[in-house]
Formats: sequence, structure tokens, C-alpha cells
Amino acid sequence: MKFSELDLPANILKALKKMGYEEMTPIQEATYPVIFAGQDLCALAETGSGKTAACAIPLIQKVDPALNAIQGLVLVPTRELCMQYMAEIEKIASTTAVIPYAVYGGFDKKIQIAKLKQEEVHILVATPGRLIDLLYDGILSFAQVKCAILDEADELLKVGFLEDIEFIMSCILHEHQTLLFSATMPDDIKKLAHDCLRNPKHISLITERTAPESIEHYFAYSHPKQKHTELIRYLAGEEVDQVLIFCNARHKVDTLFRSIRKDLKDIDYMHAGLIQDKRSSIIRKFRSGKLRYLIASDVAGKGLDFSHVSHVINWDFPRDGEQYTHRTGRTGRMGRKGKAFTFVSKHDLPSFRKLIRSRKITPCWIGKDPLCENNTPQDRRTQKRKSSFRPCPAEGRKKTE
Ligand code: ADP
Ligand code: MG
Repeated sequence: MKFSELDLPANILKALKKMGYEEMTPIQEATYPVIFAGQDLCALAETGSGKTAACAIPLIQKVDPALNAIQGLVLVPTRELCMQYMAEIEKIASTTAVIPYAVYGGFDKKIQIAKLKQEEVHILVATPGRLIDLLYDGILSFAQVKCAILDEADELLKVGFLEDIEFIMSCILHEHQTLLFSATMPDDIKKLAHDCLRNPKHISLITERTAPESIEHYFAYSHPKQKHTELIRYLAGEEVDQVLIFCNARHKVDTLFRSIRKDLKDIDYMHAGLIQDKRSSIIRKFRSGKLRYLIASDVAGKGLDFSHVSHVINWDFPRDGEQYTHRTGRTGRMGRKGKAFTFVSKHDLPSFRKLIRSRKITPCWIGKDPLCENNTPQDRRTQKRKSSFRPCPAEGRKKTE
């Protein structure tokens, strides 16, 4: 369905056209009538499915710009998502008189307070920590909030914000609409939905536990010492647009950056240890294509939208299936094809098995398939005579051989 088939005001339609949004994505189509009608909502859809605009469009429509008060409140887990959400609202609202504003940690609180006190703000996008600070400072009023949104709710809970969210929600005393968006539905989200939503409509466009089909999943069984050489060789054989490389810890990001920067041009790194200005500038550079490679800890994996990422590399094996989905969800967005490439060490094999089973992933091995090695000694002897590894599907091997 096209946006033009909705009863949207002409100025919003114009902005959407300028952004290149004509067809609604499935989650946008499914949620619009519910949000517009004022009902509470619990919506599940894959990362990259357009949840931001699904929510932002009807939210902007609900705001009365003549009323100088916060009418929409959006909670997001990280500063980066806060800026990204804000940017999307700014674009959609560019032809209206609706004013959004973002507050997040790592940015001068005094400036945020001055803006909130002196200027008009209709939609506030915030990370929970900074929002609570501002609430304690007594400069926020939620008296006119019509709609509260918990975006990337699974990530919000993962970073330990459950109590903060419940506190913030308890500060909206009057009846209002609450919307919850998430990419997954673990038990704690069910609890949050139960606590914060009233007779919500449930919409799920998730095919449970299956990784998106737009991504091909490659794995390399490697000794840690070989990873560097193997990664360079793999990338050299690929048509690369932009690459995100994930490590499990900040110090690993630093170490990898130092060792690999001489081999890969246009590379930088990002983790939560960097000051906010630096993180924002790296994100801008990556988004505008000035960087080709970005090494990151999981701060960059949380819902950030980089639409030109052709390859996601898991330098370290992800902690669990959720993390794998979140990281690899940075590629293969909006119908584009993407590739995920994950290093597996001997120690990761149990987690690897669990991952492919739970996410229904068909792995393509680059090099040897360790699962063949783990058979019985009898099998191993037979296999040795036949072949030392199970061949990858044709597509996966083409460029690496
Ligand atoms: P999610 O929050 O579900 O992970 P986003 O809201 O970040 O997804 O959207 C992913 C990408 O899709 C963004 O680049 C966004 O600009 C784009 N997008 C969203 N809706 C549309 C649409 N209707 N038409 C074209 N592109 C869209
Ligand atoms: Mg999102």
C-alpha cells in the first residue's frame, strides 16, 4: 500500500516523497491504523523493517503544534539511536510546525535544560538515564503527553533499563497511548508489555527465530592467530561496499584496529569508551561513505541503520543468537543482499551449533567444516579417505577459491 492512499496531510506526504518513501513497509501498513486510532500496541518486526517511521508518522500527526508542550515521548536504548530517531522525525516533520528534540547522556546537560526551558518541544526522544536526570531536575512536564513509545524495547531491557522505564512511565499520570516496538520478544519484554500497555493490539511480523533470508551466512573455523590473514584474504575476494566488524569488548576493538589498519584503507573504530562527539563523527563518516570499514563493539549493533553495509564480520563469536541477529541485521536491509562472516574457534563450537539450530541458519563454510571433524573416530577415518571438508554451497565458494 502507498502512503498516498492514507489520509495523510499533504505536507507530511510531501516530506515522505522527498525521503523516497512511497510504498509502506509491512510493519508500517499493519501498525498505522492502530496507532492512529489511539490504541496501545506491541509490535514485533525484524531490524531494518521501518519501525521508526511506522511510529513517527502517526505520532507527528497526533501532535498539536499550537500547544507548547511535550506531547510525544520516545525512549530508546542508546545515544546513537536517539540521534537516528530524531533525524527521522526531523525529516518527516520538516514541512510541519512540529518540533522534536533529543536528550541523551554524554552531551552537555545545561544546554539540554536551556532548550527545554526556553523553547518549544513537541516530541522528546530520550535515553532513559538522561531523561530521569532531567525529571529529577524538575524541568520536564509530562502533563500533555498523548503518546509514549518504547523503541527497540528488547535492547532497552538488555542494557538494564527495566526499572528506569517503569519509573518514567509512572510519571505519566493521566490516560495516554503507549506503543512498544521490538525485534524480539523475550520473557522480560512480555512482562514490560504487561506492565505498561493497556489492552494492547499485538502485531508480529516475525517468523520466529529465523534469520532474515536476505543474508548469506558464512563461517570460518580458525585458530585465533590465523584470523587476521583469513579476514584480509576473505575481504580481498569480495565485492565490498561497507563492512562492519564486531568485537565482543572495547579492548578487542582497540587491538584489532591497531593491527589491521595498515591492511585496510578507510577504516576507523567505535565503542562506548569514546567521547560522544567522536562517536557521532564516526557514525556520520560511516553513513556518508567516507569510511569503508568500521570496527565496533555492540553499541553500533543496536538498531543503528547503516543501509550500505554489504558485510558484517563477527571477529568474535556473538554471545548468543539474539546478538548474532542484531549484528548481522546491519546488512541485508530493505531488500538488499548482505553477507555475514563469522569466525568460529574450537571453543565456540557448542554455541555455533545452538545458533544454527535456533535461527535455522544454513552455514556456508569458508575452508574446513569443523562439524565433520567432530564425528566418531570411525567416521573421521572414513572421511579422511574421502574428503577433508564438506564443500560449501557453490555461491559461497565462488569468490574465495
Ligand atoms: P527498524 O527500526 O525496523 O530497524 P528503521 O526504521 O531504522 O528500521 O528503517 C530501516 C531503513 O528503511 C531506513 O534506512 C529507513 O530510511 C528505510 N525506510 C523506512 N521506511 C521506508 C519506506 N516506507 N520506504 C523506503 N525506505 C524506508
Ligand atoms: Mg529501530
